[in-house]
Amino acid sequence: MTDAEVPRQPNTFALWREVDDTRIRTRLGGFFYFLAWLLTWVFSAAPGSLMFSGVLGCLLFAALLAARLLHRPDGLESPEQLQRWLDRHWGLILLTSLCWGQAHALAVYSNAYNDSEMIATLATVAFATAMTFNFAMRRGRALLALALLYLPGLAVMALNWQQKHTILVTLIFYLSYLVLVLGRNHREYRATLELELKLLEQQRQLDLLSRTDSLTQLGNRYQFNNLFPSLVANAVRQGEPLSLVLMDIDFFKKVNDEHGHAGGDACLSAFAEHMRKVFRRDADALLRLGGEEFGVLLPGTTLAQAWDLAEHFRQELEVEGLQLDDQRLELTTSLGIGCFSNSHDADADAFFKRVDSALYRAKREGRNRLVAADH
Ligand code: GH3
Ligand code: MG
Ligand code: MG
Repeated sequence: MTDAEVPRQPNTFALWREVDDTRIRTRLGGFFYFLAWLLTWVFSAAPGSLMFSGVLGCLLFAALLAARLLHRPDGLESPEQLQRWLDRHWGLILLTSLCWGQAHALAVYSNAYNDSEMIATLATVAFATAMTFNFAMRRGRALLALALLYLPGLAVMALNWQQKHTILVTLIFYLSYLVLVLGRNHREYRATLELELKLLEQQRQLDLLSRTDSLTQLGNRYQFNNLFPSLVANAVRQGEPLSLVLMDIDFFKKVNDEHGHAGGDACLSAFAEHMRKVFRRDADALLRLGGEEFGVLLPGTTLAQAWDLAEHFRQELEVEGLQLDDQRLELTTSLGIGCFSNSHDADADAFFKRVDSALYRAKREGRNRLVAADH
């Protein structure tokens, strides 16, 4: 999965991270169960006479290994799909633990495995250790896996207390150590995940800040540069209209001169608010392109529809002006408008220039007017 495909939504990210960690850590495990049983069988006193349990065990662990390798989380996206994968994969992990616990118990119980019993016991210790260090994401499930791996062998040893009590006591000590470490590893895993989530949130905020104009909360020039070419490409692909309105406040220098820079800033905020009232569709992108220049991208909107909106915006501003704290400020804007046309515009840049010239004409022809781009 590439960086761009990492889920951004916290809950989905946490599940995705767990799925990814589980997938990486489970890869090798299955093979060692198979190998451990193979060695236990082959190094027993007479493997030939243990065909049934030997071959059955090998087939079982080979099948579990194959199931683990084949159960891949490719293409999962929704939290439900990720959770389902985790549940099923844990099913496989627990089933493997259950089978190994039984295999170990058999090796301890049956005299025929006396020679290789230690291999099975050492493997049990190794598997339990691996479980503690690799699968601490889920404490409850990892504890259950530990119990399934460890307890059947211990139970058989307890039945043979006379001969097995030293190793039994040692194994119990080690198990208690593993349980403590599992708790610590679980907390550490969760803490790292929390940290990653915090970083993700900060990244999201930075991304938002870098795309948002702090004064007006509209998209900024950077956002426009990102959005504009992709909206043009989209319009071409889908054969839908894309309109662009460019606006430049008239005589804005005068506002600054008369009301100070702070007054000018308040005017820009109020202007943006007025834009939000008129261009209200979710798909409309409202932007501050610089100083007192603004733009609106209107996907799926024809020139005639965009014209009506832009003219309404201009007239309302002319009549009502802007309300700044306790005073009304008279203000007008000049506007250029155009709709992307395959036959006129070679690319997004050409489209922008065409609309920008219309805005320039609106200024030249006396301001406070809307001019459509040549086509
Ligand atoms: P015209 O009708 O030709 O557009 O005249 P104008 O005065 O609006 O245009 P001009 O481009 O000459 O001046 C724009 C002014 O906008 C100059 C600049 O000081 C002011 N300005 C640009 N950005 C900001 C801002 O963030 N806050 C404030 N208060 N003023 C700004
Ligand atoms: Mg200007
Ligand atoms: Mg201006």
